[in-house]
Amino acid sequence: MNLDALPRLALGHLPTPLEPLPRLGAAIGVPRLLVKRDDCTGLATGGNKTRKLEYLLAEARHEEADTIITAGALQSNHVRQTVAACARLGLGAEVVLVDRVDGVDRDYRRSGNRFLDHLLGAVVHEVPGDTPADQAMADVADAVRRRGGAPYIVPVGGSNALGALGYVRCALELRRQAEDRGVRIDHLVTATSSGGTQAGLVAGLAGSEARVHGMTVDRPRAEQESVVDALVEGIAERLGASLPLGAADVRVDDAYLGEGYGIPSQPMVQAVELAARLEGLLVDPVYGGKALAGLVDRARQGAFDPEESVVFLHTGGTASLFAYLGAFGGAALSQVT
Ligand SMILES: *Cc1c(COP(=O)(O)O)cnc(C)c1O
Repeated sequence: MNLDALPRLALGHLPTPLEPLPRLGAAIGVPRLLVKRDDCTGLATGGNKTRKLEYLLAEARHEEADTIITAGALQSNHVRQTVAACARLGLGAEVVLVDRVDGVDRDYRRSGNRFLDHLLGAVVHEVPGDTPADQAMADVADAVRRRGGAPYIVPVGGSNALGALGYVRCALELRRQAEDRGVRIDHLVTATSSGGTQAGLVAGLAGSEARVHGMTVDRPRAEQESVVDALVEGIAERLGASLPLGAADVRVDDAYLGEGYGIPSQPMVQAVELAARLEGLLVDPVYGGKALAGLVDRARQGAFDPEESVVFLHTGGTASLFAYLGAFGGAALSQVT
């Protein structure tokens, strides 16, 4: 796989660390539990979209775009990382924020990533929850063109085959790190939503023993599997490689989605508290928290052999914790005198 042949901008602090989680591992019966710290990619509180943007914004540069357009939920980590990258590269950023999560409060509407988008200087278009993001982005691009600008659209989540190459790279980086310390990765657990992260990992780990478990935080299992499958195919096409994949290599678990995207669940709250209190590790409530809830629960059900190593991919997103104070008993904080 020759990933280096494609243009890429250096935006992230890479490689990210691979660290043991001994206290959390002991608590859930997974003695060989590790975390791949993609929350430490460095871009305005970091996260997994940075690796995708290294490829996507290289293409935008190549096309001589001056304004980047993307979309996501009000608390999108993807949008915040895109806006931060634009600030660094001197590009304009116009973003569509879809008000798609029901029952949210004032913190959700103002704090966390929403505040950071504002601080980082984005032009923000907030649209109702039923707005198709692709159409809204195309409309913004038309407006940019009409005023003489050169727009480039980054898809939701940075998930097309080009963006997903960032996670093929991550998989290769992880394989090297594991090899250097004589660890065999048996299981890799990640949140999955727009699908590029899981697809890239599946492609990059093809032919190894590692099984990638995508914990969906967005769509039900069958739908999510077809999203990821299509991206894996796109990656293979881009790389002009046939990947040594079996049909079973894309695995999605939807048992921890709860009531839906962005809606807190009790297992999520408990998993986030566990990581915070046993490891000093901050995990986000929308993605990593639900994925970790899945890892914890599957571990307690005996899904992992004690001899096996399990890697939790920390995809970032901790800025959105501040948009979810209510889910973590934040109301009680205001009682403190
Ligand atoms: C976007 C995101 C994910 C999901 O990655 P996809 O490539 O969209 O599936 C997981 N965790 C966090 C924190 C994210 O922001």
